[in-house]
Amino acid sequence: MDADVIVVGSGNAALCAALAALDSGASVLLVDKADAALAGGNSRYTAGAMRFAYSGRDDLVGLLTDPDDPRLVDAEFGSYDETMFLADLVSFNEGAPATAEQRVLVDESFDTVRWLAAHDVTFEPIWDRQAYIVDGRHVFWGGLALAADGEGSGLVDSEMSAVVAAGGSILLETEVTGLVIDGGSVVGVQVSDAAGSHALSSSAVVLACGGFEADPDQRVAHLGEHWKEAKVRGTPHNTGTGLRLARDAGAAAHGRYDACHATPMDLHMADFGNLDLPHVERKNYRKICYFLGVMLNADGDRFVDEGRDFRNYTYAQFGAAVLEQPGGFAWQVFDSKIEPYLYEEYRFHDASFIEADSLEELVVRLDGVDQDRALHTVREFNRAVDRDVSFDPSIKDGKAARSVTPPKSNWAQTIDMPPFRAFPVTGGITFTYGGLHVGGEGEVLRGDGTAIGGLFACGELVGGVFLGGYPGGSGLTSGAVFGRRAGEGAARGAGLPRNGFP
Ligand SMILES: Cc1cc2nc3c(=O)[nH]c(=O)nc-3n(C[C@H](O)[C@H](O)[C@H](O)COP(=O)(O)OP(=O)(O)OC[C@H]3O[C@@H](n4cnc5c(N)ncnc54)[C@H](O)[C@@H]3O)c2cc1C
Repeated sequence: MDADVIVVGSGNAALCAALAALDSGASVLLVDKADAALAGGNSRYTAGAMRFAYSGRDDLVGLLTDPDDPRLVDAEFGSYDETMFLADLVSFNEGAPATAEQRVLVDESFDTVRWLAAHDVTFEPIWDRQAYIVDGRHVFWGGLALAADGEGSGLVDSEMSAVVAAGGSILLETEVTGLVIDGGSVVGVQVSDAAGSHALSSSAVVLACGGFEADPDQRVAHLGEHWKEAKVRGTPHNTGTGLRLARDAGAAAHGRYDACHATPMDLHMADFGNLDLPHVERKNYRKICYFLGVMLNADGDRFVDEGRDFRNYTYAQFGAAVLEQPGGFAWQVFDSKIEPYLYEEYRFHDASFIEADSLEELVVRLDGVDQDRALHTVREFNRAVDRDVSFDPSIKDGKAARSVTPPKSNWAQTIDMPPFRAFPVTGGITFTYGGLHVGGEGEVLRGDGTAIGGLFACGELVGGVFLGGYPGGSGLTSGAVFGRRAGEGAARGAGLPRNGFP
């Protein structure tokens, strides 16, 4: 045997599965088709933000790289308990109750983050994006307080170091093309590498090789025609191979294949994520300050309530909303009084934007947009803004524009102070929600609820975690929670001849 447990992928879910399997005494081999630059998958592209339930500051301080940071003294983290986390997930279920997977994610979130910290992954408060300075203190909002030190790259590098230190091996540029099945159980993988095609054998295989977001044909088949040209925010390698191999082996599909995480992105970004940039710049093609202004489509109309909720509850849905507009693009429009509140990504040296000293001049330069209608829309919006309520981005301030369609429910300010800026955006797909049905130990289930012997899955392959939407920072936590389960399950299952667990 090449290893007790083979893990397919080298992202956060794979590395957590590997760590858990190693902790359980199994020998572990990770295989990823990426080269060294792209190893770590989508997880490497992330901001490292992780959402988990916590009861207050004391739960957080012990996880930090620098627990003596002077800003901590006055910081207000509030609390974010299991009920709040579950309510946030369920708020996207379009009326459906909490799924079993959502309950697992919530219940194990804090314990799993502590487990990561015990493997030398440390965290930092997200000072700039998840907190506003109110009366000189950082006030955190939206249930998301910490990110891994060094963001996604830091997370993946720490996890890889921990895996290697615990005796795990990692094979890169090794694409898994098939499962080796013997007597109904999975006993290895078929791979393609520089040496050609050959098999690797193991007692259990954990699929942690992502969704189908990077495959245009599957995007069109499951999500719709307008997803064909979507930008891909992360790796080009997540093309749904793991899902296909598991389905071919009899696995049940589970969750929402017709929904995904997608975010407004610079219209002129590259077709895939930009790992060639330093990690602090990588996120700068994202454009998610729409809640501070308005978004206009080609018809010159607004099309979402930009202030419906805190942006980490809307940004993952609004990428799809942009792609659904004529031509699949929109312009985000701001005036100069909001400039200090815009994230760094709007000042990025490669950000696409136009600037003008009047709204009349601005609309002339909005490529592809009905200019008269755009001007009318912004003027009507300005007229509708509630001037009696104060603007406060640290809360849902109720400063609304209600008499326009759609209304803007919070943070509505008139767009009337020159210079004006407009940023062209499209939708960038982050990851897909449809996956496999896994049992309590990460074992992959058939439609009749029985386990496929030797086969486990985690990360983006787990269906039922996200249905109609996504509260920011949940993907990495989900990968860690279900990765840890699958790794422990695979280590326990290693050696069982067939049919998974007794
Ligand atoms: C730009 C961006 C920012 C994000 N920011 C955040 C954030 O801050 N917080 C958060 O919670 N989530 C964030 N996400 C979502 C997050 O990336 C995912 O939820 C999570 O990383 C998925 O982890 P994973 O291990 O399942 O998949 P990945 O990390 O994508 O790993 C899958 C791996 O499988 C490999 N692979 C694919 N097919 C094969 C094959 N046939 N053979 C071998 N290997 C294969 C790939 O090369 C890849 O390395 C972000 C995503 C992107 C793209």
